[in-house]
Amino acid sequence: MNLHMNYIGGQWVPAQGGETFESRNPARPSEVLGVFQRSTNADVDAAMAAARAAQPGWADTPAPQRGLILDRVADLLEERRDDIARTIVREMGKVYAEANGFDIQAAINTARVMVGEGRRLLGQTVPSELRNKFAMVVREPIGVVGAITPWNLPILLPSWKIFPALLCGNTVVFKPAEDTPLTGIKLLEVLIDAGVPEGVVNLITGYGAEVGERFVTHPKVDMISFTGSVPTGRTIASLAGGELKKVSLELGSKNAVVVMDDAEFDLAIEGCLWGGYGTSGQRCTAGSRVVVHEAIYDRFLDAFTARVEALRLGDGLDEGSQVGPLVNAKQLDRVASYIGVGEAEGARRITGGRKLDHEMGGYFFEPTLFTNVEPTMRIAQEEIFGPVVSLLKANSFKHAIEVANATDYGLSFGIYTQDVNRVFAAIRGLHTGVVNVNSPTMGVEIGVPFGGVKNSGNGLRESGTASIDEFTELKSVMVDYSGVHRRTGVNEAATRT
Ligand code: NAD
Repeated sequence: MNLHMNYIGGQWVPAQGGETFESRNPARPSEVLGVFQRSTNADVDAAMAAARAAQPGWADTPAPQRGLILDRVADLLEERRDDIARTIVREMGKVYAEANGFDIQAAINTARVMVGEGRRLLGQTVPSELRNKFAMVVREPIGVVGAITPWNLPILLPSWKIFPALLCGNTVVFKPAEDTPLTGIKLLEVLIDAGVPEGVVNLITGYGAEVGERFVTHPKVDMISFTGSVPTGRTIASLAGGELKKVSLELGSKNAVVVMDDAEFDLAIEGCLWGGYGTSGQRCTAGSRVVVHEAIYDRFLDAFTARVEALRLGDGLDEGSQVGPLVNAKQLDRVASYIGVGEAEGARRITGGRKLDHEMGGYFFEPTLFTNVEPTMRIAQEEIFGPVVSLLKANSFKHAIEVANATDYGLSFGIYTQDVNRVFAAIRGLHTGVVNVNSPTMGVEIGVPFGGVKNSGNGLRESGTASIDEFTELKSVMVDYSGVHRRTGVNEAATRT
């Protein structure tokens, strides 16, 4: 049995309470991947103290040198990508191609972008209002960053936080999700082997509900960067608010894809299929609502149903598998509960709807499609986080945009159309942080910021250069080299020299 430790101040150490927990393969729950430390508040204290002690020295390390360590991180992720991808598949169930091609590739891309940022970390110079005065803005680290992440993108999401946080001169305490501790440890090993100094990055495993409050309110943590569900996000925001800690929240969504009557039909079917059912729908960007123009609705329903029914479920390490299991038994039950919810409200289940744990041995759920869905129904409003897609009907472009926007969320929406006027009207009209035109909602390019509006986040952005703003403070500096004390207002003083 592989027993794994916390990593604090450069040492692998057991949790002080002596408790552990297991991580299991959702495709084969009898398979235990390892045993992990069930941390308590005492471990949070130790990790925060280590991060605090290491922070001044790390901030003093020139940014280009910090970047060079991330270059090595990218190289090691390349070298170990097969092993890490297999770990992701075995720990949370997505298919190998997604783990390798998206999760790990995004982490590599993030590290490479950060290498370049180490040679930029751009501030600003601004023209002073006064003669013989110089004004500029410089970036400074925030201090100690606490990173809390979910299990669904267990390499990408920690990388989006840890790499830029480190590059900007912060030290980090990382708590991976309780469903993916081994993947978190593999990432830590990469950082350690790349040369991140002792105390600069620390890891504690365990349950958010047990260590979360101490983690978020700890006197030595300056910022919490959180990705996860809305309820946890609310808890974290209110705890952090009480202590006036900086907090970044990337939360859930109920994304919509509009398919207009002029859409390239096969492209739209393909995009909605993978946007809705990829990673078994367990993505914050999943296109779980498809809003189809009435002129093509019936044809779309037939073609889409055929594709959904042909999806091949299986262990993500088997080459033929297209859709893996859900992450755990609780998630399986939660997704299954929405079938009754939808039917009770009058939606029509066209295909799917069954748990397949008995037949397949893992937490598999049939890809499911609902039609006759009204925008106000719970299955159109709540994030199910499973392979369940709702089709909604729209009678015009304007109506389709209204239906898409009829949600408390706004993360990653899309439209399929060949009409350039509709493209730009949709870009303006969709109330969301990310718009995808003629491509699935899932995924984002490293060059553009990622984040949502409404309940999908609190306004900061991650991915690529945008994350520099998340992990730095701006310091304004004014240097008066006139030698004159300017007593009164800016304008008066400006005329005096
Ligand atoms: P979750 O909120 O249950 O857990 C996320 C993390 O928070 C875990 O590490 C967990 O241990 C920790 N946590 C739980 N309770 C806590 C508490 N009281 N204090 C501090 N930490 C606590 O979410 P989940 O079920 O693991 O992940 C799925 C959710 O994440 C979905 O809603 C999904 O949309 C969202 N998500 C958002 C993005 C994004 O970028 N916007 C990306 C991926 C996933």
